[in-house]
Amino acid sequence: MSDELRRTLRVYEAEYPGQPLVARRADLEAINRLRAQLGLPLVDAELKEIGAVAEAAAPEPPPPPAPDHSTARELYRAYLAKVKELRPHRAYADRVARATSGPGQTPVGPLTTMGTGGGPLLCDQCKKPIVLEGGAFQGVPADAAWAKNPDPEWKSWISGGLVVEIVTNGTLRIYHGYPGRDDRQCCNAARRADEQAQKRHAPPPGHEPFHALRAFLEHEFPERSERDRVALVNDILNTVFSYDPGIGVNRPDGPG
Ligand SMILES: [Zn+2]
Repeated sequence: MSDELRRTLRVYEAEYPGQPLVARRADLEAINRLRAQLGLPLVDAELKEIGAVAEAAAPEPPPPPAPDHSTARELYRAYLAKVKELRPHRAYADRVARATSGPGQTPVGPLTTMGTGGGPLLCDQCKKPIVLEGGAFQGVPADAAWAKNPDPEWKSWISGGLVVEIVTNGTLRIYHGYPGRDDRQCCNAARRADEQAQKRHAPPPGHEPFHALRAFLEHEFPERSERDRVALVNDILNTVFSYDPGIGVNRPDGPG
């Protein structure tokens, strides 16, 4: 039955273009009736399948514009570069802080050998070594005392105070003095200068970098949790935009 219908349809469709217009209209109705019976798509006056025509004619929806992550990518690169630069200095700061910490007297060895190039730790304010107090080395700079008495177990009181500080970017500062209001002491003069520099620092950026970085990290690290990514966004913003006190006068050997 359907073979017969198909044959009839083929005849109608073959003859259709040669028919006069009036006949065509009746033929088109017959063709579409047959097509409907056969479960085929209907055709228009030019025998083009209506579904196919509609499909071909429908314009492709334009692809959604790819989000532009270029600004966030730049910020992320700047962040990675800065973290890489600071890494050995942060590790060094931790080592010095551990070696010189503790209650009471200070180990003299670290004071004289953990500075730049294995030399003495210098005050970041006046660039001079720390001075010892008490006993045979009263008032003697640590490096000069160490040259005469290189005893690894040696601990000493410090003359005029010693401040070992890890500043906001994780790097080391060494100062003479006792924290307080006396600006003649190195640690207090340095703190005041630092506070003024912080005030001059540009205000933090608005919300835009936060949202841009959040979208970028979601695109870049879909496997990480939202909480991790937000923490990373904040770390990036802090590292790139916050006041940076720089690196102190005492430097680690090699890559840290
Ligand atoms: Zn000093």
